[in-house]
Amino acid sequence: MIDALPATGVSAAQVLAELRELRAADLPTHGGRLFAYVYDPAVPGLDELAHAAYALSAHVNGLDPTAFPSLLAMENALVGAAARLLGGTSETVGTVTSGGTESLLLAVKAARDARPELDRPRLVVPSTAHAAFAKAAHYLRVELDVVPVRADLTADPAGMAAAIRYETVLVVASAPSYAHGVIDPVAEIAEAAARLDVRCHVDACFGGWVLPYLRRLGAELPAFDLSVPGVTSISVDLHKYAYAPKGVSVLLHRDQALRLPQYFAYADWPGYTMINPGVSSTRSGGPIAAALAVLRHLGDAGYLDLARETREAVVTLAAAVQATDGVRLYAPTETTVVCLTTDEGVDPFVLADELAARGWHTQPQMAYGKIPPTIHLTVTAAVRPTTPAFASDLADAVAATRARGPVELPADLLATAGALTPSAVTPQLVAGLAAGLGLTDGAVGPMATVNTLLNVAPPPLREALLTGFLSLLQRPPSQGVL
Ligand SMILES: *Cc1c(COP(=O)(O)O)cnc(C)c1O
Repeated sequence: MIDALPATGVSAAQVLAELRELRAADLPTHGGRLFAYVYDPAVPGLDELAHAAYALSAHVNGLDPTAFPSLLAMENALVGAAARLLGGTSETVGTVTSGGTESLLLAVKAARDARPELDRPRLVVPSTAHAAFAKAAHYLRVELDVVPVRADLTADPAGMAAAIRYETVLVVASAPSYAHGVIDPVAEIAEAAARLDVRCHVDACFGGWVLPYLRRLGAELPAFDLSVPGVTSISVDLHKYAYAPKGVSVLLHRDQALRLPQYFAYADWPGYTMINPGVSSTRSGGPIAAALAVLRHLGDAGYLDLARETREAVVTLAAAVQATDGVRLYAPTETTVVCLTTDEGVDPFVLADELAARGWHTQPQMAYGKIPPTIHLTVTAAVRPTTPAFASDLADAVAATRARGPVELPADLLATAGALTPSAVTPQLVAGLAAGLGLTDGAVGPMATVNTLLNVAPPPLREALLTGFLSLLQRPPSQGVL
């Protein structure tokens, strides 16, 4: 248990030693065996450079760019680089944000506030669009129209076009989608939106910094960026395939007029006039300086090399999946995601545990509509050196999974869960369930039973259960760990 406010201060050396001890419980952020959450280029010295740059600007405040012109210059440089990479013109402008969610939130806000006459603005997304759009719709009171994707997991342009109404303020496409790594037909969707004079945002948060390089390496990928007529904005996370430390994304708009309603301005109080392009007012310069340092150090040629290594890793992992009985690719591996599913007799959630036991940390994805449970691997350049060991570990893990058989939920647990409704999920109930499932702290252990339970729960119940569980974890130490 950590006391964040000890009676007297602790030495710097001891504080750092304590932090290192805490970090030891985390999943490995380096080493190419964690296929979600982290993006690692495995470039020697890059971390040190990013940390030094971060430290230089950590106390600089993005609240007022005229007070800290260094930050204004850095942000403009990042936006310029993103615009160059993503089909921008001399008219293109943008905003540096804290992450993909903020970029998407702001794209929706700009679109909503460009149509102030609407009482009930609406947002059209494919069913594979990132959950951050649902969050934006919720925060901003915009109605969400979700259009089912086609059998190949790409957005259905005809369905999207049919969903656009007078109240629609924004239409969305992903390049690529996070869950499956496939690219939506951006040109057709943007054209349908433009015909009706509706904005179109391309969510390239995940792949925006790698797709242009994959294309240069010869991949035949559809056009997806600002060069496509009708695309009015696009987002790209620098803390993903630009390999910057966490906390940086860029939202680009085709021109200044499109960006203007994104700003929040307020002069009607006794303090300073607040003009914010994004959600936060006070913002650290640290992540921005670190991102700039990483971009400049790697350079265009560096990103091309990293994209090549990433693709090599994807191809090797995909071949391993195809060569292993009991698992198969669920989505085409056209970008940097390997998404697999399992055959009868191989429980996907047990398989994820068996892979984790062998040091491969993947991301299980629950069933959705006709889509079965899948296992997601975000592949980054650091994965390439580890790939030769994957095939045999995957074969072993599948064999062990078969031997264990599918998860059988205890009858009493099933009965309890079957009768549950979201409103019945109280903190007491969640605490009881968590104790029964042996979830005694936040550390990741075997999750097959929990995932099986969550997988059969309808989405609203799953949301309530996981919210309750996080709420249980997110309490100060004085209230006791679980
Ligand atoms: C990661 C991601 C987001 C959300 O970004 P955060 O940085 O996690 O807030 C949005 N869209 C896509 C496609 C993503 O992969």
